[in-house]
This record gives sequence, structure tokens and C-alpha cells, in this order.
Amino acid sequence: MCGFDSRASYGIEGVVDVHHVLPLNQRGEGITALEDLVVGCPTCHRPLHTQKPVLTPEQLRQRRLAPFL
Ligand SMILES: [Zn+2]
Ligand SMILES: [Zn+2]
Repeated sequence: MCGFDSRASYGIEGVVDVHHVLPLNQRGEGITALEDLVVGCPTCHRPLHTQKPVLTPEQLRQRRLAPFL
């Protein structure tokens, strides 16, 4: 979502959250499509779930007031 690179920031690889663009309860049974998933850092991921319905990454970008470091 934001290009966060945990290795560059912390020297730790793979600190990412996977977000389902479609809430799980709106998807039928079956396999999750790759395009339904976005990868972001926890800092970007958590705010999506503070709103109901959950924000999309695009909405989060539009709300962003300050650039990420
Ligand atoms: Zn999520
Ligand atoms: Zn992020």
C-alpha cells in the first residue's frame, strides 16, 4: 500500500500484513483471489479496519494527511 520496506526500516524482513479488499463475510466459500489481497505494513493496515465498512487502500490514501517516511 505504501511501499513500506521493513528490511530497510528495521532490518527485519517480511513485516507485512495481508488485507482482504473484500471483507471475508462478503465473499462466498472458495479460494481467495490474489487480486482480492493487498499487502501493506501494519501501520497502513490497522486504520482500514477502524471504519465501518472498512476503508479501501485507495480511500486511505485519500485521507492521508502526512506523507509516510
Ligand atoms: Zn485487513
Ligand atoms: Zn504502510
